[in-house]
Amino acid sequence: MTTNPANQQLNPPDPEHSEPEGVEPEQVQPEEGQPEEGLPEEGQREQGGILLPIPDPQESARLLGQSAGFRSGFVALIGRPNVGKSTLLNQLVGTKVAITSPVAQTTRNRLRAILTTPTAQLVLLDTPGIHKPHHLLGERLVQSARGAIGEVDLVLLLVDGSQPAGRGDGFIVELLARSPVPVHVALNKQDLVNPDQRLELRETYQQLLAGEGDRPALNWPLHPVSALTGEGSNALVETLAAQLPEGPYLYPPDAVSDQPEQLLMAELIREQVLSHTREEVPHSVAVQIDRVVDDGPRTAVLATVLVERSSQKGILIGKGGRMLRTIGQGARLQMEKVFSGPVYLELFVKVVPGWRRSAARLAELGYRGD
Ligand code: GDP
Ligand code: MG
Repeated sequence: MTTNPANQQLNPPDPEHSEPEGVEPEQVQPEEGQPEEGLPEEGQREQGGILLPIPDPQESARLLGQSAGFRSGFVALIGRPNVGKSTLLNQLVGTKVAITSPVAQTTRNRLRAILTTPTAQLVLLDTPGIHKPHHLLGERLVQSARGAIGEVDLVLLLVDGSQPAGRGDGFIVELLARSPVPVHVALNKQDLVNPDQRLELRETYQQLLAGEGDRPALNWPLHPVSALTGEGSNALVETLAAQLPEGPYLYPPDAVSDQPEQLLMAELIREQVLSHTREEVPHSVAVQIDRVVDDGPRTAVLATVLVERSSQKGILIGKGGRMLRTIGQGARLQMEKVFSGPVYLELFVKVVPGWRRSAARLAELGYRGD
């Protein structure tokens, strides 16, 4: 029988050859010729009596199959509402992680999507669009976008390149020009642009970056892309990746999002509400996941949709509950795709007057004011 401690830890207890109870593997006498355990050797540290190798970034990189020169870092997606930030994020990551909608301001929480290529890992932060705040929820959204700028290695400013640059874009450019973080500009929605208009539209954005007052000209690179078709997205990722600092994986290579599952579930339900109802409902809706139960082969989800007025509750439920069924069915199908497995979803609707103005309520739903 061997006294190699590693073997004893790996093999299940063997009734014939088991050690007396209470003898821990590391208390086994070392074989002759092996160093006595005791003082930590160079390259080891002691933790709870067990010697662990000191992490060596180069060794970890080799074990993880990373080559020297691997790059990693954080990229904030910044832009006015509706320019296609969430669509681009989904296009880049290739899995649905952000909800998209023709209704502006649908991204409420800062979302991290993780994009791993053979040479780099980009952690993308989807931020709510920057705009003028109207009420408390609006202010939280803007704070969240501004906060993201301070935490990243790169900013990707996304604009609607199918339209000439406007005042809203100017506001964001001035905001970003004051931060030390390098900025790249993606001219999105190129699929909507006639080839002979491309240059003209691009020039309106170049003008926006020209020097103004005592601000010097900004030499931010412009990248034409289409988040919808994927045009230009590979080139964009390569350029962004090359700008990141050298570093290890920040998340496991197969991760696509750091969004807690329940928040993602809530977002998928909210997306269905947005796509099936009109103007009067969308911004007054929040979704709360009440329970998630692992119910054999399927996942059971109980959720409540919060609205501000009883008229909105009526719209959401619909005649004979038809609307709520449609929303629930759509959300269930999305959840089954995202979580790859059968889902049972039960939806409730509740009126909570003024939830958008209540700071406590916002915090409970995950809209942090930091
Ligand atoms: P966000 O508010 O910036 O996150 O914008 P979304 O990603 O939610 O997109 C807003 C709307 O623009 C949606 O209807 C998208 O389908 C649409 N959209 C986004 N990117 C493109 C694009 O490249 N081409 C076209 N034609 N539409 C796009
Ligand atoms: Mg969005």
